[in-house]
Amino acid sequence: MNIAAGTTVAALQAGLPLDPLENRILLCYALDLTRVGLITNSERVLNADEAARLSALVARRQAGEPIAYIVGQREFFGLPFHVTPAVLIPRPDTELIVELTLERLAPRARLLDMGTGSGAIAVSVAHTRPDAAVTALDVSAEALAVAAANAHANKADVRFLRSDWFAALGSETFDLIASNPPYIAGGDVHLAQGDLRFEPSGALTDFADGLSALRTIIQGAPAHLVAGGWLLLEHGYDQAEAVRALLLEAGYGEVQSWRDLGGIERVSGGRRG
Ligand code: GLN
Repeated sequence: MNIAAGTTVAALQAGLPLDPLENRILLCYALDLTRVGLITNSERVLNADEAARLSALVARRQAGEPIAYIVGQREFFGLPFHVTPAVLIPRPDTELIVELTLERLAPRARLLDMGTGSGAIAVSVAHTRPDAAVTALDVSAEALAVAAANAHANKADVRFLRSDWFAALGSETFDLIASNPPYIAGGDVHLAQGDLRFEPSGALTDFADGLSALRTIIQGAPAHLVAGGWLLLEHGYDQAEAVRALLLEAGYGEVQSWRDLGGIERVSGGRRG
């Protein structure tokens, strides 16, 4: 799409070939306006530079690039998160595991977020509960840099650790472990569709049956949990039964699943005996 200089903001709000929300996000970003600014500047006319910049951004979106990567940001749990293609774009579904974690954290409790990515879980919890001692790990140094920037921007005190799952943890223990690990099976058709095509594959899939990272965490967590400590795991729409079975097999108690806003069993967990 070639947007001409001289086009007004009002005309663009109606005329871009994107859905209304994405249209607004891209306009605000391209013209450096707030949502309110978009309304109060509706008669503003684009100069040639702005028109060219907006045309290029629209073209990227039309080629499938996720809007969050184009503008470098996505809101999660009411907080702004910086995102790059080194991290998964935070999903609204993941707010469920944040809420379940917040409900279970005693004052000054120690939380471990495994595979933190953008830091969505760890930063949201630490922002909401400054008393908590929050540790977040990831195997990707690039992801940790993004997560650390998000902790800083959201005034969240989080300790970051580069670790391949439990490898760098030593004998440290926590009161709660939460994780949104890669759980899409290798070869799943969704990996070749929509936003997922642009996201880091190692954050989405285990390149196996979809349960291997979940298995690793379930088997390793008891050594890093206090007695009675919760393990909470996000998983795919069809994995709740399998994850509960793995938790029971590994000796966890109070094993159960929780539904997300779409009614899908999205998080399962249990307590170390
Ligand atoms: N919820 C993501 C999706 O299905 C996957 C996230 C993950 O693998 N942890 O798009």
